[in-house]
Amino acid sequence: MDLDFWWLLIVPVAFALGWIAARYDLKTLLSESANLPRSYFRGLNFLLNEQPDQAIDAFIEVVKLDPETVELHFALGNLFRRRGETDRAIRIHQNLLSRADLPERERDHALFELGQDFLKAGLLDRAEETLARLDSGEHAIGAQRALLTIYEIEKDWPKAIQVAEKLETMGVPPLAKEIAQFHCELAQDALGRKNPAEAADELALALKANEQNVRATILAGDVAAAAGQHEAAISAWRRVEAQNPSYLPLVAEKLMKAYQALERAEEGATLLTSYVERYGSSDLLDIVYPYVAELRGAETAHALARTQMQAAPNLAGMTRLIEAQMATAEEPRRGELELIRTLVKQRTKNLPRYTCQSCGFRARLFYWQCPGCSGWETYAPRRVEPIVTPQ
Ligand SMILES: [Zn+2]
Repeated sequence: MDLDFWWLLIVPVAFALGWIAARYDLKTLLSESANLPRSYFRGLNFLLNEQPDQAIDAFIEVVKLDPETVELHFALGNLFRRRGETDRAIRIHQNLLSRADLPERERDHALFELGQDFLKAGLLDRAEETLARLDSGEHAIGAQRALLTIYEIEKDWPKAIQVAEKLETMGVPPLAKEIAQFHCELAQDALGRKNPAEAADELALALKANEQNVRATILAGDVAAAAGQHEAAISAWRRVEAQNPSYLPLVAEKLMKAYQALERAEEGATLLTSYVERYGSSDLLDIVYPYVAELRGAETAHALARTQMQAAPNLAGMTRLIEAQMATAEEPRRGELELIRTLVKQRTKNLPRYTCQSCGFRARLFYWQCPGCSGWETYAPRRVEPIVTPQ
């Protein structure tokens, strides 16, 4: 019985202790909040009511009354930048930086934020100058990443390579894919300036950075073709198969043209037909079809299209199959096929597009760098048909 009695006492004692603790907490909270300006709570209230404009006004008042609130400066600056009011964000961060007593850690943070403001405002020179000051410390990696973005926008590839290599030494995940692409950009520039030797040097560097880089292999073929060395061009483009066969549609037309230049079109058609059969790509078929039709007749082309369609049916291939049948059909069958073709074409009005696997941006042309999210090699070299929903 005695034991039970003591157990019963524990409950009220625990309750009393909780009550004292709660009172103590409340007291501390009240005394702390007494130090905060009224506008702070008004601002919070506006934020909770999803009235950001009024919230900003209230917070600006807090900052004016109490310039010591560094964190609030950062929060406001961020808010302004996100709303696109970069001039106000810039002013806030410059204000912070003008303080002589600002600790180094906060100074770096403010520099980093200011760099982002300039970047968002499109003032790339000033962004570069600001971020370049953050060589070490907590924000060094973030600053170098932002610098990399700036050099990519400016297409300053030598500097982009420099920063990417520096970032790698700072322990970020490898940037070999990007570095190889930067060298490819330089090679493409050199090719445009008709400087094949410089282009070849850059391509060697690209493959040294990333031996899987297909673009460098394709460009190596372009360099050879530009010099009239079609044989060398063909052997470069054929290497794409070993690297990554899904990129073959990007070289199919080039290969065929080179074989034609060497007056070996038949050999080219055989090679490309074997690619279609092996990899079953409708993009490849699209390129190969007219050559096969011209060299070997409509019937052979038709058979190729049929085999491909049976392996992987799609609407674009279907249009091609109907066209192949139309070529040999007679009236009134021909008129019927024409009708079917028109209907299928209506359904595929939006041509198949390349789709970025990172941001979903759709494009008619193939890009090595996505125009939507600026990611490198985010497009599969395969056009995807829009999804047709039945009406
Ligand atoms: Zn993208």
